[in-house]
Amino acid sequence: MLKVLSEEGGMGPALACPHCGFAHTDPWEVLEQNRLDEMHCGECRKPFAFALMECDHCGAEKGFTWAHRPADATLDLLNCESCGRLYRQADESPNQDPDPEGL
Ligand SMILES: [Zn+2]
Ligand SMILES: [Zn+2]
Repeated sequence: MLKVLSEEGGMGPALACPHCGFAHTDPWEVLEQNRLDEMHCGECRKPFAFALMECDHCGAEKGFTWAHRPADATLDLLNCESCGRLYRQADESPNQDPDPEGL
């Protein structure tokens, strides 16, 4: 079930490492959008938090990164660069799934 996306270079938003600035442009389709996650930088190997946000209104996608994992509510404050609306203005997830990670 592997999808080859190489012919569509540069399709997803890049995630820039907050430590070294390295831009990650992996095929983001495998990642969940509009939620906070963490990964290790492919360049400096340091961990950082990121979120891939997709706008419900105009469909624009953008990747956000943080050197330290922010509160989940931080995502509620992010707004779309294209149309200016909050990504999460409509709460589509009735299942609150607390995800305690004591890093
Ligand atoms: Zn890095
Ligand atoms: Zn938008």
